[in-house]
Amino acid sequence: MLLQEERELVVEYGKKMSADRLSAGTSGNISIYNAEKGLMVISPSGMDYFLTTPEDIVVTDLEANIVEGNRKPSSEWALHTYFYKKKPEARSVVHTHSMYCTTFAVLGQPVRAVHYVIGDAGVAEVPCIPYYTFGTTELAEAAVAVCDKSDAVLLGNHGLVVCGKDIKSAYGLAKNMEYIAELQYRAMCIGKPNVLSDADMDVVIEKFKSYGQPGSGKKGY
Ligand code: 13P
Ligand code: ZN
Repeated sequence: MLLQEERELVVEYGKKMSADRLSAGTSGNISIYNAEKGLMVISPSGMDYFLTTPEDIVVTDLEANIVEGNRKPSSEWALHTYFYKKKPEARSVVHTHSMYCTTFAVLGQPVRAVHYVIGDAGVAEVPCIPYYTFGTTELAEAAVAVCDKSDAVLLGNHGLVVCGKDIKSAYGLAKNMEYIAELQYRAMCIGKPNVLSDADMDVVIEKFKSYGQPGSGKKGY
């Protein structure tokens, strides 16, 4: 079976995404891109994360040709492949319908620098695109059109998509985004949040580059 290790990681993180309540039911999807082989592994469409096995993960190229797998790939294959084509360093894409990120996506509002950890996305403000039908190339095109600097994008009336240098980073960013969106929501419930300036965020984004142990390549929590 091709890309066994990557398949196992997609299964593991799918369960995590569900258990951490970042995605209800079968919503959301996860992929890993193996650049050397030019192949992506992606979660199957509409399958319970806790019943999904490595055999259910689908291997495709970036043109959506199925290379190995018996299942139908996630309906968001275009969203995932467009990220890998646009962001040369991306090796994993995670899409969630997490509650607080989706709340701002419903409002059509960005997630702002109410907490410095937004620097994990590489920006001071995570943009929100308008609504597009799920599983369309229009949705994928609109998302990658605003992800030049940002590793995270809110999808109007839908959810969140993030990318990272590996699945741990991408998943960590999805969790951080939900944390910040919840903070922003809570702060807005009782007042007007202070939003950090671009200058403050530039300092954080730079400092995150050397965060953690030397050589760990971490750029956030
Ligand atoms: P899939 O089950 O096809 O991955 O779709 C879930 C989803 O979130 C669509 O946007
Ligand atoms: Zn979705």
